[in-house]
Amino acid sequence: MQRRTFLAASAAAAALTPTISVAKMTAPLNPLLAPWTGSHGGYPAFDKVKVADFEPAMEQAIALNRAEIAKIASNPAKPTFANTIAALEDTGRPLDRVSSIYNVYTSTLNDKPMQAVEQAMEPKLAAFGDEVVQNAALFARVKAVYDTRESSGLTPEQQRLTWVTYRSFARQGAALDKDQKTRMAVINQRLATLYTTFSQNELADEEAWSMTLENEADLAGLPDWLKASAAGAAKDKGLVGKWLITNTRSSMEPFLVYSTRRDLREKGFRMWTLRGDNDDAHDNNAIITEILLLRAEKARLLGFKTHAHWITDNQMAGTPDAAMDLMLKVWTPAKARVAEEVADMQKVADAEGAGIQIAPWDYRHYAEKVRKAKYDIDENEIKPYLQMEKLREGMFWAAGQLYGFEFTPVQGLPVAQPDIRVFEVTRAGKRVGLWYFDPYARAGKNSGAWMNAYRTQERFRSDVTPVVSNNANFVKTAPGEPVLVSWDDASTMFHEFGHALHGLNSNVSYPTLSGTHVARDFVEFPSQLNEHWLPTKEVLSRFALHYKTGAAMPDALVAKIKKAHTFNKGFDTVEYLASAIVDMKAHLAGERKIDPRTFEKETLAEIGMPPQIVMRHRMPQFGHIFSGDGYSAGYYDYIWADTLTADAAEAFEDAPGGFYDKPTAKRLHDDIMSVGNTIEAREAFHRFRGRDVTIDALMRDRGFPAPART
Ligand SMILES: [Zn+2]
Repeated sequence: MQRRTFLAASAAAAALTPTISVAKMTAPLNPLLAPWTGSHGGYPAFDKVKVADFEPAMEQAIALNRAEIAKIASNPAKPTFANTIAALEDTGRPLDRVSSIYNVYTSTLNDKPMQAVEQAMEPKLAAFGDEVVQNAALFARVKAVYDTRESSGLTPEQQRLTWVTYRSFARQGAALDKDQKTRMAVINQRLATLYTTFSQNELADEEAWSMTLENEADLAGLPDWLKASAAGAAKDKGLVGKWLITNTRSSMEPFLVYSTRRDLREKGFRMWTLRGDNDDAHDNNAIITEILLLRAEKARLLGFKTHAHWITDNQMAGTPDAAMDLMLKVWTPAKARVAEEVADMQKVADAEGAGIQIAPWDYRHYAEKVRKAKYDIDENEIKPYLQMEKLREGMFWAAGQLYGFEFTPVQGLPVAQPDIRVFEVTRAGKRVGLWYFDPYARAGKNSGAWMNAYRTQERFRSDVTPVVSNNANFVKTAPGEPVLVSWDDASTMFHEFGHALHGLNSNVSYPTLSGTHVARDFVEFPSQLNEHWLPTKEVLSRFALHYKTGAAMPDALVAKIKKAHTFNKGFDTVEYLASAIVDMKAHLAGERKIDPRTFEKETLAEIGMPPQIVMRHRMPQFGHIFSGDGYSAGYYDYIWADTLTADAAEAFEDAPGGFYDKPTAKRLHDDIMSVGNTIEAREAFHRFRGRDVTIDALMRDRGFPAPART
């Protein structure tokens, strides 16, 4: 089985494609396929990677895997869990290894040669996935084990794995007839190409377009750190003595907050929100239309009403209706809050005599002014206390308190790029795994932040420890100068680290059920929950230290940050939900041909989108849902998981030891963090909380009307 883990705060995809492994190897192994050996339970040999080796390595890995599958499928013995399901778990090891490194390269070192490899390989990987799913003899064996799973003496985890494996095959069309299977394979290959092109177009528009600030007047309002990073970006492009705002979220958002030049805010905002939508070679609109049609056709072949039905069938939500119901429940109060926020901002603008009506390029700017006025908070006052490296130590410390983890830097292990660092994770002196940290932005790296699992935990053949990474896009500073981050970025660090902890805490037998391989609308729960440890006094007093004086963040400032927690939640919620609702409705449209521009406009009008806000991801730049199947009809996952998160956070708040309450932390470990997908998501949450989730905590967390806590 090829198991890809790729969890985003704002980047790309996660896919669980069917499996496979290796019988007798005759040809010498390409270095990318070799077992990971050496200390720490083995590690990826990034020092042996040559981009030219990827294609032959993957071809060879696929061939090896094919041979393994054939052996299982043609086994004359009666199908058993051991000779079929477990045997499948033990296949595709070389393909897993090369894919791990390939994923690092396509997401963080995606130069032109690598993009060509990606264009060539994605359809082949998709075709191979279909070949496995469509292997009738193999599926017959899987089904035979599945049919007798309750009476054949399997452990609960083995029964669960059998169920998951069977479902994975069936959901992808294992039971289709020959013509349908042929059509399915054609669709999947075409989709693979479209996904790759979509994300490469998005990257191209982020790299090709930028806004040059020519002189001091263009810098009006910008804080020094932003001027410095804009100067650095200009220098990288050979524009000496100028400043560059690049076309990425991390560059554009602070510019929109601080720039007092409304004309430049509008110019930048329009450029940024038109990524993939410029009627040029990198325009994504036609690609979206085709992807939606193909997904709808595929869903029909699989016996589902729409792609949204097919996707949610496998999630905690279960149906598109359940997801829509939650979103619309939150949408109405969020919209009402936006009206209040806009009124507050308009007052500020009027008092300034600005003579404007708040427009989308004004929202972040005036929101910051309201925040200062209402809560006396200035991001520039917070930032000197938020040093990336200290926060990293804070994440480590909190994980030590919760899970008993210790993190030790490891020198000398090969890395994909010199800025990447490696830490060994141990518990009570015993090896837990490795954590790779790749913090800086660079050309060829996806924007945003995400977690990636290089190797998942398992122990059914031998004890395999996890290898996980966190990736971000901080702007690198001169040696010796600290990287200062915003409060939001600090939260994101804790978020991604939560995914890493989910991978590291895993304690299961089979890799398919390991770590973050859980239902997609559940997977953001451990990560979002981990964000809650940043604002704890224990972390801030030890690790939010002023970069010049070393003083801890003053209590008064901490109090102000907490008080401002629900600030701008109308904007955050509406911006996000608009994208999530458009995603769901586009995938509920079935085989109706959609023009993304018209569809977006009509859908937003239908739900009464406030004119002052633009979707967080407009369709032509919505990589979550169009650069893969990862979050398609699933952008709702974040609010679904946040409902779980807010409810779980209240369990800690109500505990005697608060967020460091040992019994509650132990339950979190035992019921959620360590069990992977061995337990159904709803059941896991119920065990942790002692009841099903309710929406009330989410509403309270966002400051929307909700029943008081009991
Ligand atoms: Zn996440």
